[in-house]
Amino acid sequence: MRRTVYLDYAATSPIRPQVRGAMGPFNDAAFGNPSSIHAHGRDARVAVEAARRRILGALGVSDGRLIFTGSGTESDNLALLGFGRRHPDARIICSAVEHKAVIAAAAALQARGRQVHSIPVNEHGVLDLQVLEALLSAEERPTLVSVMWANNETGVVQPIERVAALCQARGAILHSDAVQAMGKLDFRLGDTAVQMLSLSAHKLGGPKGIGALVVCGPVELEPLVYGGGQESGLRSGTENVAGIVGFAEAVAVSSAERERESARLHALRDRLEAGLREALPEIVVNGAAAPQRLPHITSISIPDVDIESLLTALDLEGVCVSSGSACTTGSVEASHVARAMGLDGDWARNTIRLSLGWGTEAEDIEYVSATLPKLVRRIRDFTARA
Ligand code: PLP
Repeated sequence: MRRTVYLDYAATSPIRPQVRGAMGPFNDAAFGNPSSIHAHGRDARVAVEAARRRILGALGVSDGRLIFTGSGTESDNLALLGFGRRHPDARIICSAVEHKAVIAAAAALQARGRQVHSIPVNEHGVLDLQVLEALLSAEERPTLVSVMWANNETGVVQPIERVAALCQARGAILHSDAVQAMGKLDFRLGDTAVQMLSLSAHKLGGPKGIGALVVCGPVELEPLVYGGGQESGLRSGTENVAGIVGFAEAVAVSSAERERESARLHALRDRLEAGLREALPEIVVNGAAAPQRLPHITSISIPDVDIESLLTALDLEGVCVSSGSACTTGSVEASHVARAMGLDGDWARNTIRLSLGWGTEAEDIEYVSATLPKLVRRIRDFTARA
């Protein structure tokens, strides 16, 4: 079989064997609907509530709610739209490098008359705290601040503790998208002043189609989905029991392995960056000088190469990576994250993201460190002769 090296864990990850094992019975004999009052239903309810407690426990949250959703995207939407719809005079402040799930939800609120502000980042991708502070001081009205724990394109970690302190001082609610940070960083939500946190199982070796919004404190939200009143009325619809059980297992496994696995991925990521820099000294690793980056993501801008040709050539060599930019209808557009960090159009467009995960081995890194520069040179030679 053709060798494949999967370095796109930030897009999604394969399901961990332990997760598949834990989910198995709930796709089979334990098929009950948690709202049913008979034995099948009760068993399913017990499994859902145990999973909820396991995830909250892993986050160090003793006094908080966890609402299961269908994805990280839905969790972000529930946080922003749920708050914005509840408070007609709400103000939303989010960073310029948020995932599209936050940016698009904020834009939808803006279209309905809510005030929305974007906070810039510096060239390392780190939030401008002074702008946040000035915005928070400007007005008294219900305010939601949304700042991601760590960025999905560059891995840059935001100064969440300081953001939380500013929000707390001004009575603003803080939401953080921890979809990429969960399982990689040692964060105990219960020890912070973050009131809402978005998670997604499939980035952790869990199944797709299941996410969560954790809410700490008295945050009032309007549901996005109405119906049978599941998830404390905030997310109606029969629960995805197998997904929920798999999510909790993925959180437990990734939390238990976090320290060792993060150190391992960090070392592999550094080796990859060093190998690529040695072969192609002209590349730029975006966010490399930030105070902290996630251990498993690297965003690399490569000048003078057609990036779509490179992604295709890598794919043909069995290497799966992402464009660091948004791909729309076949063309690669400069990403809003790269733009926000001040990269000009060509650099921003010529960016790829490589992300490692639980199945990544040293030999994968050696293979990509050798293959990628070879392909860049081949494309450049071809372009020069054309
Ligand atoms: N937020 C971040 C930071 C992400 O990286 C992603 C997915 O890439 C999402 C939200 C959306 O998560 P999901 O794929 O579960 O909708």
